[in-house]
Amino acid sequence: MARYHIETYGCTSNRGESRSIESALRDAGHYRVDGPKEADVSILNSCTVVEKTERNMLRRAEELDEQTADLIVTGCMALAQSEEFQQADIDAQVLHWDDVPEAVTNGECPTPGPGTEPVLDGVVGILPIARGCMSNCSYCITKQATGRIDSPSVEENVEKARALVHAGAKELRVTGQDTGVYGWDEGERKLPELLDRICDIDGEFRVRVGMANPGGVHGIREELADVFARNEKLYDFLHAPVQSGSDEVLAEMRRQHRVDKFLDIVETFDDTLDHWTLSTDFIVGFPTETEADHEQSMALFREVRPEKVNVTRFSKRPGTDAAEMKGLGGQTKKDRSKAMSELKHEVVAEAYEELIGTTREVLVVEEGTGDSVKCRDSAYRQIIVQNADEHGLEPGDFAEVEVTSHQTVYAFGTPV
Ligand code: SF4
Repeated sequence: MARYHIETYGCTSNRGESRSIESALRDAGHYRVDGPKEADVSILNSCTVVEKTERNMLRRAEELDEQTADLIVTGCMALAQSEEFQQADIDAQVLHWDDVPEAVTNGECPTPGPGTEPVLDGVVGILPIARGCMSNCSYCITKQATGRIDSPSVEENVEKARALVHAGAKELRVTGQDTGVYGWDEGERKLPELLDRICDIDGEFRVRVGMANPGGVHGIREELADVFARNEKLYDFLHAPVQSGSDEVLAEMRRQHRVDKFLDIVETFDDTLDHWTLSTDFIVGFPTETEADHEQSMALFREVRPEKVNVTRFSKRPGTDAAEMKGLGGQTKKDRSKAMSELKHEVVAEAYEELIGTTREVLVVEEGTGDSVKCRDSAYRQIIVQNADEHGLEPGDFAEVEVTSHQTVYAFGTPV
């Protein structure tokens, strides 16, 4: 869990994006502090309305770069003029708003806070199913706060899910640090059973399964893929963070999987489901990562072609074993992160390009900027529909849309 500082500039819509970022960070267990010096990571949500604003954004980014361990720049200037930050030699990750929460997470799992209860946010119901994990990753500070997995019963979680659906949830987000090991403390991994039971609840809604580490998923991969195949309510989306394509680095990270186990999972899902989204994470620049290790990560990336990827530049968290390792130079981390981010854009853009001209059934999940709405298709791809009022669309509606264009990490569609 990270301490973050966020600054927002510009219009109401940009402030709305910051609110979404903050709510995702809260759900993942991160907490806000009062200034950049106290923070592990600062977020600058930028604006580029006039030239003077641009100069102010660059100056503020330089200050934050000096004052804080990690800097993320997002917002309109980041998206339209990312090169300006590079030219000013500001050491920041420049990201789309939607990618900020996972970058803050820094490769660790999301952490439901103490006493976390389900939350209904618009039509989205957040359902934390368990706290803790079965791992001890060398770079993770979260584990120190949450410990070993503690799983409430399936019945208890189903009742919470039912309450969220009755309260109006149309999208249930099943979360936990590692949903794949849910039930392990009770002697049996019970995620497939839980998902089946949640999908049996009456009502029209969708379910998104949150992060599940490959180590936990591997032993239940066939059962889990079958649960996805038989339940239309489940988004065909799996977030399994691999973190590296090198077994040596995975061992130093103390991850509980090796590359071949991750590949087994991808193969099983490919064999069982027609259309699904693989979401994964890579940490680049781990202290022991050699150039050859980095190349193995790039090769794995090209092989599995994930549609949603979080590329995180390694950064030290106090009190972790990885923080004691001799780190790589900042430039090396920057170069590797740039290379992987470019590959990510190529792979993700190709996937979205293939969607153009297809018709997708979507759920409208939330309002977007201006008069637009954000929707999700059956594989949890984001599709934006403009002029929502004219089309009579609002959060909670289901619709059919034709995909007309894309902007790398999301598509645009028109109702048909
Ligand atoms: S699985 Fe690893 S990264 Fe995730 S919470 Fe457990 S120790 Fe941390």
